[in-house]
Amino acid sequence: MENCIFCKIIDNVIPSYKIYEDDNVLAFLDINPAVNGHTLIIPKKHYTDLQDIDANVLANIFDVAKTLSMRITERLNCDGYTIIQNNGSPQEIKHFHIHIRPFYSLEEELLPIEEIEKVLI
Ligand code: 5GP
Ligand code: ZN
Repeated sequence: MENCIFCKIIDNVIPSYKIYEDDNVLAFLDINPAVNGHTLIIPKKHYTDLQDIDANVLANIFDVAKTLSMRITERLNCDGYTIIQNNGSPQEIKHFHIHIRPFYSLEEELLPIEEIEKVLI
């Protein structure tokens, strides 16, 4: 899809800190993280939102979310995480994605994204 930032990330036109990739799904770190390990998971095919996405691709995305949330919990020592999926007006990027937003009981200093990538890759 032309002019879609996430399609450009998939095509490597825009760089990103990728932590997981397979034939259907890509996961990378949010450029403006709420906390360390804030991750976005997207389908490689462009779907706009939850109403648009194919159910099998959605299942692939949640399989990856299970794997990555465990990895984030173990390697970054978070106390939990929230899955966020915006549609319509709260959705900034109109390419379906879910956020994994880790939670830490102690306030954490934001580390450089390159360092988080090294830990999670
Ligand atoms: P939304 O509100 O659409 O659910 O959230 C979109 C997310 O994408 C935001 O958290 C924002 O920081 C992130 N984002 C926007 N542009 C880029 C980008 O070019 N690269 C990366 N890695 N994240 C982005
Ligand atoms: Zn797209």
